[in-house]
Amino acid sequence: MSSSEGSKWVSRCVFGSPPNLSELDELAVLYHEQAARNTRDYVRSWICPDCRKEYKPIQNMLVDLPPFSCDDCGLKNDAAYEWRITQCLINGVSLDFKVYDQNRKPHCTLYSVAATIDATRRVEGAKKGLIISTPLDVPEMAKTYEQVTGFELGKEPPEELFETYDNCSLIMEVVKAHGISFLLGEYDTLLQNKCVDLPPIPRLRIKSYFRVDRNNVLLITRLLASGYPLTAGMLHGTLYWYLKGDQYYYAPKCATTADAHAITLIGSGLASKNNMPETFYSARDSHGTKSHPDHKMRDFGADFFLWACDITDVWGLRGCLVSRDLFQFHVTSDVWILIWSIKHTLITKHIPYPWTNSRDESFESNYVMILTM
Ligand SMILES: [Zn+2]
Repeated sequence: MSSSEGSKWVSRCVFGSPPNLSELDELAVLYHEQAARNTRDYVRSWICPDCRKEYKPIQNMLVDLPPFSCDDCGLKNDAAYEWRITQCLINGVSLDFKVYDQNRKPHCTLYSVAATIDATRRVEGAKKGLIISTPLDVPEMAKTYEQVTGFELGKEPPEELFETYDNCSLIMEVVKAHGISFLLGEYDTLLQNKCVDLPPIPRLRIKSYFRVDRNNVLLITRLLASGYPLTAGMLHGTLYWYLKGDQYYYAPKCATTADAHAITLIGSGLASKNNMPETFYSARDSHGTKSHPDHKMRDFGADFFLWACDITDVWGLRGCLVSRDLFQFHVTSDVWILIWSIKHTLITKHIPYPWTNSRDESFESNYVMILTM
């Protein structure tokens, strides 16, 4: 942080440390028995060929991973595997979502943060058996960011950024304080314009965010397997635009931070690179469902693979919460949208609330209590 001292914005950013391995172990034990998981577990044990010591698979909340390496001799397990958060079914709920589209604007970090938030809330909902899918209004978030910071998103002055090029902490800070708005559709916009008495649209905020050491590959793979999607930086060159889905990207070594791009890490795997076992991450871009096309032509778009050594920065977040002025509850976003829609409909139709005698403030407290019980 020495290079960023004295600068206005980056010095205000407060980020914590990522969940540690024992926290992830505990999460695995808590959910292993409770949640109905339909994921590909790599349950095979591994015996180190040198030491003859047996290692059990690493248990995680979403998916169990093959043993990483030998504790005694450090030999890396070379068993190939590949998995993604978006392929998981938890309590019957799919964690898949559509690839975002930044529309050729230099907004990659914001869109990958949005995808990280989107995947996080889906994991949180699925733990309770709920599908959480109300669309996020990312363009509105870009406007909020520019209003709050006074910078043009993607063109911030270097001295205001983390290590002079990374705007992720600034974006996380704004999402922590101001949240991302939900996209409520044309009909709701029409009503908003007509009626001044409507409650404000709820916003989704993050509880906190953290930075992960990019060299800690074991922790990164375990965070992903524990339901923590991550926002990561990478360097890219011209060939990046020709990359197809499920292909490995070899980042250019001579690139500068001017060629930096942000993507969302949504899974991990192991493959052979120059005849050596090497971890890679499944990466989700934000150039729409048609980018990196492959033979599968999925409606939700395609992902690609990025070698673990090619990522430059890694950020994650803890928990999403929906806030509305005075009210901050750990209620899932879609439940809030439901409450908002009911209240919205009643106000626009001038019908008194059926569950209270008067239109008083007890509406929120009553209803939220019922839902969170
Ligand atoms: Zn060994």
